[in-house]
Amino acid sequence: MSVLVLAENPKGKFKKSAFEVTHYGHLAAQSLGTDCIALVIGDVDNPAQLGTYGASKVIQVAHTGGFDSKVYSTIIAEVAKATGSDVVVVNHSANGKAVMGGVAVKLDAGIVSQVNAVPTQDGGALKVTKPVFSGKAFAEFSVSSANKVISLMGNAIPLAAVGSDCAVESMSVDAPAAGVSIKEVKTVDGTVPLPEAELVVSAGRGMKGPENWGIIEDLADTLGATTACSRPVADTGWRPHHEHVGQTGVAIRPNLYIAAGISGAIQHLAGVNSSKCIVVINKDPEAPFFKAADYGVCADLFDVVPRLNEAFKKALAE
Ligand SMILES: Cc1cc2nc3c(=O)[nH]c(=O)nc-3n(C[C@H](O)[C@H](O)[C@H](O)COP(=O)(O)OP(=O)(O)OC[C@H]3O[C@@H](n4cnc5c(N)ncnc54)[C@H](O)[C@@H]3O)c2cc1C
Repeated sequence: MSVLVLAENPKGKFKKSAFEVTHYGHLAAQSLGTDCIALVIGDVDNPAQLGTYGASKVIQVAHTGGFDSKVYSTIIAEVAKATGSDVVVVNHSANGKAVMGGVAVKLDAGIVSQVNAVPTQDGGALKVTKPVFSGKAFAEFSVSSANKVISLMGNAIPLAAVGSDCAVESMSVDAPAAGVSIKEVKTVDGTVPLPEAELVVSAGRGMKGPENWGIIEDLADTLGATTACSRPVADTGWRPHHEHVGQTGVAIRPNLYIAAGISGAIQHLAGVNSSKCIVVINKDPEAPFFKAADYGVCADLFDVVPRLNEAFKKALAE
């Protein structure tokens, strides 16, 4: 029995989410009285560094040709069987979501997505917590199957270094041929991806048009934050779709979420209300977002956002 985590390594490098899932696996393993094994698929710089976040060892499976859910789910399930891992943890990322169902079928496992706390043992079952009802409540699930597959929400646990480089073992897996051929990859460079961002500055239809986004980008630049938006803003092409957060967009959990000119519809809140601190700027005192806010500024965003930016610049320069 052990906990197996998938450490994603796009472009041959680990992202923060790989360290998070490893550390979560370590904490889960501690809680279950076992050890955490990290799985790396394909080449990556310095796989041994996962030991720093609690992996007892890394299993590396050679693979070329990019992500394919059929190939990845087979590799994960085979490595879980070979290592006797009965708990498999993936990030709640696009790739994690794409593989977890396939892994669960292959291992005949119970499955819980978007887990946000370290699991505990409940008799023979695994007890996990996840947000429900669009993030308005938390529910506990007991998974009683012999094998379990869970996905971890981003920023759910604080990252901590608990060890040092660990051993890396190669394993070969007889995986099926890829069912997908990748023709083009478009990535956004230069900013922290939204699911991993600790600081997010977001705006909605209150911005009136795409030409006004400079004040949002300036504030994000000052804070080193990632920009986001509401769905209608992305739908009308004011901002790119990868910035859309909410029920049908990216679900985020930053330490700070600043929302300017966003009403706070339930579908928007579903993706953002696990943020640790929410600051709402809206000129309508009845805007529903104020009910979910830690701090609210009831005023014109075109007045408040530049002044907030100047105040942050001054504070950061001190
Ligand atoms: C099935 C479904 C799924 C959906 N999924 C999502 C989703 O994932 N994400 C999402 O965001 N939405 C989603 N929506 C849409 C959602 O219901 C709302 O329509 C949307 O979030 C509203 O976007 P908004 O707040 O930017 O715009 P609006 O509702 O138009 O709100 C604009 C706000 O800006 C304020 N404002 C205007 N001018 C100023 C100013 N000068 N200064 C300060 N404040 C100002 C207004 O008071 C208002 O509160 C979904 C809807 C459906 C039906």
